[in-house]
Amino acid sequence: MDCIFCKIVNDEIPGQLLLRDEYVCAFRDINPVAPSHVLIVPNKHVDSIDSLSTEDAGLAGKLLLAVKEIARMENIASSGYRVIVNNGVDGHQEVQHLHIHVIGGAPMQHQLG
Ligand code: 5GP
Ligand code: ZN
Repeated sequence: MDCIFCKIVNDEIPGQLLLRDEYVCAFRDINPVAPSHVLIVPNKHVDSIDSLSTEDAGLAGKLLLAVKEIARMENIASSGYRVIVNNGVDGHQEVQHLHIHVIGGAPMQHQLG
């Protein structure tokens, strides 16, 4: 499968990773929308939230805990940040490997959608 985020996770595109553990990786978005814009992905290929199974409950928790870790590393834990997961066509998901956007370092727009 030709998946750009799998390539980043597998270090086929080196020097990208901010964080790696057994389950998840984090790296900077190539087109940041705020001073800090990090993507957190599962190391195994999962298309989207919709593709998670009950066996992935632990992985889902690891992804959320990685958000907290990235916020601490990016020094935005106390100032606050936004967490977004785009899913499917209406969600404008462009990369079909589940990823959590962690966005901060400046006040967000109030509106969603
Ligand atoms: P989506 O709309 O799927 O939630 O967002 C995909 C995100 O991945 C976009 O914000 C885009 O800038 C980012 N992105 C796409 N290709 C690459 C890449 O090759 N490297 C990195 N670091 N980010 C990428
Ligand atoms: Zn992938």
